[in-house]
Amino acid sequence: MSVSFTDKAGESTIVIVGGVAGGASCAARMRRLNEGAKIIMFERGPDISFAGCGLSYYISGEIAERRRLLIQTPERFHRRFQVDVRTHSEVVSINRTAKLVEAVNRQTGERYQQHYDKLVLSPGAAPLRPPLPGIEGERVFFLRNIEDADRIKTFVEEKDPKTAAVVGGGFIGLEMTECLHNLGLDVILIEMASQVMLQVDKELAQFIHQHLKLKGVDLLLDSPVQDFRETPDGRLFVSVEGGSGVACDFAVCAIGVKPETTLARQAGLELGGRGGIRVNEHLQTSDPDIYAIGDVIETENPVTGGARLVPLAGLANKQGRIAADHIAGKRVTFTGSLATNIVRVFDLTVASVGANEKTLRQNGIPYEKSYTHPASHAGYYPGAAPMVLKIFFSPDSGRVLGAQIVGVDGVDKRIDVLATAIHAGMSVYDLTELELAYAPQFGSAKDAVNIAGYVASNVVEGDIKLFHADELETLRGKGAFLLDVRTTGEFERGHIDGAVNIPIDEIRDRCGEIPKDKLLLAYCLTGIRSYFVCRTLTQNGFRVRNMSGGYVIYCAANPLKCTEIPGLRRWTRLLALETFCSTPEERRILQRNENPTQ
Ligand code: FAD
Repeated sequence: MSVSFTDKAGESTIVIVGGVAGGASCAARMRRLNEGAKIIMFERGPDISFAGCGLSYYISGEIAERRRLLIQTPERFHRRFQVDVRTHSEVVSINRTAKLVEAVNRQTGERYQQHYDKLVLSPGAAPLRPPLPGIEGERVFFLRNIEDADRIKTFVEEKDPKTAAVVGGGFIGLEMTECLHNLGLDVILIEMASQVMLQVDKELAQFIHQHLKLKGVDLLLDSPVQDFRETPDGRLFVSVEGGSGVACDFAVCAIGVKPETTLARQAGLELGGRGGIRVNEHLQTSDPDIYAIGDVIETENPVTGGARLVPLAGLANKQGRIAADHIAGKRVTFTGSLATNIVRVFDLTVASVGANEKTLRQNGIPYEKSYTHPASHAGYYPGAAPMVLKIFFSPDSGRVLGAQIVGVDGVDKRIDVLATAIHAGMSVYDLTELELAYAPQFGSAKDAVNIAGYVASNVVEGDIKLFHADELETLRGKGAFLLDVRTTGEFERGHIDGAVNIPIDEIRDRCGEIPKDKLLLAYCLTGIRSYFVCRTLTQNGFRVRNMSGGYVIYCAANPLKCTEIPGLRRWTRLLALETFCSTPEERRILQRNENPTQ
């Protein structure tokens, strides 16, 4: 399948710009496909193929040795793949007509030109640095590469800071918040938006907000940073819009990244509306001899058809392979990105895939959503932990459009199953049929993904009608009757204003207390008991809808009305206590008492 290109020296020359995730992956694959090609990889920094995704954990000490971050060294890479690795070498311009790149050796200052037959751009994305006063100060850090990590680590070790501000509540900001907290610092997380982790919807982000607070992290939302000021006593004051701010010893800015498109722009390559390089399905730019991969490109969201920037390592690696395959003559295509992502935030794992609610709305895509609260594994086996699983699906065909999960255990495998399902174009009916591995330590006879499929397919079939927390007031304005079917004790501990409590086990006897001429809105803690009630009442001639996700999601969606998400505090205790349980009996008690979804 491989094709060779003849350059001036009589051999094909593939030049790669950027030697980390996408670039190194492309170079290695290229060599495996074409032993005769001349492969040159330019890297501006000192390292290639390093683990950017481990940087925060190197700073915290969880990754104890720096060398662990270096997946490959230039020497080893050269030995294994015969790739001409040129570190400290920045490509500064491209001459498309002559097929030349101009490179500068940053150590010697030498400037020279290099011919290419095919050029692959994988220069990544740079941390956003808005022109805020003081942002270039010595106590304001950014995190992109090992040198940045070294700088933060050295500062923490040498200056013994007590307080840090992390600006930005995305992946890197959340990782750094946890890592600095674990190093014993007081951490203030400052976020411009009204929620962290914009990939997930607001009510799921609320689980993160409350968990951060439980862990002792100060969280400032709706707080755009205005400037950074060094104070006379050698500290830093980060001021936020509205006149307030925080005093700290240093700040880490993680407010997003922007694709490194300088080279592409200079070369006249087409950019997309999101500011990344536009590529076709083979990852070719507007110049077919120049490919672009990784954080620098825009990719299509297969759910919405829209373009977006997805700065994730898995994608960069895959695209590196695809670009190499295509250069070698294989008819491979890149089918877009579902942006499957996952992050650990202290004891929580947060993951999402496909479209979120905002994107679906913005794109006018019809959708229905449902929430379930499955356990990570069989409830009768010790250590089962709850999770919240939200999925979006087409109300007609049931095609799965997106998913989001927050939990303490088992989130990773569920999001991966759902990513596979969305990639394969599966529907919620397919989710019910997936035969997933089960033994009590690992899952349930009806796995979390099956359960999500059952609930969603009930909705598509019309067996159950849902309503969502954000629709409640509108429906009540039209005269609907709100029914809380939890126990009296639960009701007394907290309920939605105006709800009437008839516990599930009394429902058949007390049907007479429920108006038949009104729409009934039923809820319980998670939506399971109220689902049973809905089925009973529907078959008795009532018009009834079930609150998806129950009181837990209502509280998450209404943080001003409910100060705490019921049970969330126990999610953490569940883990902590489990660690100390030495007997099966202790574990059983814990299991019974601590799992809020039971
Ligand atoms: P990079 O890997 O950034 O490589 C680009 C390289 O190109 C850089 O080394 C740069 O020096 C070099 N370069 C740029 N311009 C030139 C030039 N003109 N000449 C020569 N060299 C040049 N992703 C995940 O999926 N999961 C995670 O958990 C995760 N965690 C992360 C944590 C941190 C702290 C960071 C910073 C990133 C994380 N990412 C994560 C994102 C992931 O690292 C990137 O998506 C991925 O590295 C992108 O690959 P790339 O090849 O496009 O760019």
